[in-house]
Amino acid sequence: MQPIDLFIESRWALPMDDAPVLEHAAIAIDAGRIVELGAASALAARYAPRERLMRPHHALLPGLVNAHTHAAMSLMRHLPVRGPLMQWLNETIWPLERRCVNAQFVRSGTQLAMAEMLAAGITCFADMYFFPEEVARLARARHLRVVVGAPIVDARTPWAADADEHLDKAARLWDEYRGDPLILPCFAPHSPYAVGRETFVRLRRLVDQLDAPLAMHLHETQTEVQDSLAAHGARPLAWLADEGLLRPGFSAVHMNWLTDDDIDLAMRTGISVVHCPQSNQRLGSGICPVGDLRAAGVNVALGTDGAASVGALDLLAEARSACLLASLATHNPQALGAIDALRMATLGGAQALGLAHEIGSLMPGKAADLVCIDLSAPACLPVDEPSDTVVFAAGRDAVTDVWVGGRAMVRDRRLLAFDPAEIAAIALEAPARAAVGAAA
Ligand SMILES: [Zn+2]
Repeated sequence: MQPIDLFIESRWALPMDDAPVLEHAAIAIDAGRIVELGAASALAARYAPRERLMRPHHALLPGLVNAHTHAAMSLMRHLPVRGPLMQWLNETIWPLERRCVNAQFVRSGTQLAMAEMLAAGITCFADMYFFPEEVARLARARHLRVVVGAPIVDARTPWAADADEHLDKAARLWDEYRGDPLILPCFAPHSPYAVGRETFVRLRRLVDQLDAPLAMHLHETQTEVQDSLAAHGARPLAWLADEGLLRPGFSAVHMNWLTDDDIDLAMRTGISVVHCPQSNQRLGSGICPVGDLRAAGVNVALGTDGAASVGALDLLAEARSACLLASLATHNPQALGAIDALRMATLGGAQALGLAHEIGSLMPGKAADLVCIDLSAPACLPVDEPSDTVVFAAGRDAVTDVWVGGRAMVRDRRLLAFDPAEIAAIALEAPARAAVGAAA
């Protein structure tokens, strides 16, 4: 018998790679990594675990990967959303950020978001916000996996005075955290409309030299595409391709307004697309053609975007919304199946973030980032295809257990990684921090 740290038996296991759904499954974990996944009866005879967990009504999945968020904006969750996007950014969000965002704001908002995401089964998130060094420090202290996007914009922000300082600070973040087992720094130019050509040229030189990942809001609204055509004579994606920025490791967030040529370009350059269906719907931004992208061979991940636009950092809700929206947009109920949406929420996210060797599926050797979802509530029964139940019936409240690198973060619905009193105190101070009266 091989001694191991942890043995979990579950009613179902959804590996999320090409392996089929397993029934009466078990997973063996040791030193933070997956040792083996298989039939419980076979595995039980081989391992002597220090801890054994029975989850007889549960689906076991790899931890969910939220491939795009602005975690600290959880402190702006309660603000009214007055779209469309540019009006909302210009009149609500950017003035509020200039006035209120500092390192303490980011620490508070990010902790609130981390607690919310962990309880919802999200074990890794890709962030894009000011003071990314605070997010990295928190992630290290709380043992969360984070892709920390250092924002790059030309204008003065609460974090940096101009493009020079944004680039310098982003490079410093890269130097400090590259090679970290849980934290991957990333360069996150906000959008083609917030960054000029000169900055993109310098950014390209930097990421070429460092071989660093990139994330950017792209083709979010029709206005953005029209403005790019007027300014550059090219659509944003084509313009960035001319600037040499598109490559594997580039996450294009939103991608709602795409032609066949855009999709072809996305495929040829090996970029990933991060679909944020609920943010796009709430702001009325557009619909990402997920089916066409996937049919063309483009990797698609799922993101929540920030709580200011979407309300909840709930990736299972995004998966459900992605399926519904794909059906509605194409008049085809089979446009995006539940298992495909879950794959986008796990392995698709891992691929987009350059972490597929480490997370995103239940493959032996990968980190034990795991989630158990209880499918025994009346609202979930009867279960036929567990992926359908997880996406269309269960929701984040059914998440019972979460591990990051084999460490328990949520156990029996109890959040272990944070003190509930600490999170409640942060939530209480949120309106003051976001200066709601002044912004609304
Ligand atoms: Zn965003």
